[in-house]
Amino acid sequence: MKKVGIGMKTLAVIIILVLVVICLFLIFAISQGADYQAKLLDLPATVGKWITGAADAVTGQSAAPSDPKYIAITFDDGPNDKTTPRLLDILQKYNAHATFFVLGQRVEGNGDIIQRMVREGNAVGNHTYDHKDLTGLGASGIAGEINSAGDVISKYAPSPILLRPPGGAMNTAVRAFCKDNGLSLVTWNVDPTDWNIKDAQKVADSVLAVAKPGDIILMHDIYSTSVDAAEIVIKTLTGEGYVFVTVPKLVELSGGTLTPGTVYSNVKLPG
Ligand SMILES: [Zn+2]
Repeated sequence: MKKVGIGMKTLAVIIILVLVVICLFLIFAISQGADYQAKLLDLPATVGKWITGAADAVTGQSAAPSDPKYIAITFDDGPNDKTTPRLLDILQKYNAHATFFVLGQRVEGNGDIIQRMVREGNAVGNHTYDHKDLTGLGASGIAGEINSAGDVISKYAPSPILLRPPGGAMNTAVRAFCKDNGLSLVTWNVDPTDWNIKDAQKVADSVLAVAKPGDIILMHDIYSTSVDAAEIVIKTLTGEGYVFVTVPKLVELSGGTLTPGTVYSNVKLPG
């Protein structure tokens, strides 16, 4: 009997302790009531944001940092020891990356600029050695123009996997050479003809009027006005939620894989 009595006493103590803990919890919960209510009221706003985000994704209008609009800007015919470093400064300032299609003949003496392009996350592609129209050359001429540029670029950058034929001019022989030599062809779908219009604002306006996610913009880093135009374009589009990526990155973001011999003028991004 005594043993049972102690057991009942212990049970009573436990029950009292449990009741005390429950009371303390209730007091705490009541004191926090305002916060819980605030959290509950926040819920509809959060759900609203999801719905808005989904609607924006459908219309392609979202500027939320979590849903960036990817675009590629490319620069041909450099490097130039005055204008290209200034452009690299601008790219750094806006955390933007570009793709440079350099001319083989302009590489020696500018090796440090090529190395800086790579170091800062930009891509370096092949734009031939002498900027000749490849469609006017035979097989050996095509190989010579592309290989000699590739060789000199490779001294300062990873061996190029991208070719931009001068003027975008190509034929089956050019494409076949690229397919056999691990080169994807990159053209463009936004061309402000900055080599002709030496007015930074006009060039920038021309780009800004049409730019959309997945585009590949063509410009030239050898003109001071083009570098000024690039700053306006990069500053404006970055402010609208765009992220400037290299062409290989843009293709990757589209869910594709760079394929030698294939021509890329822009990409279709998912969503
Ligand atoms: Zn060119």
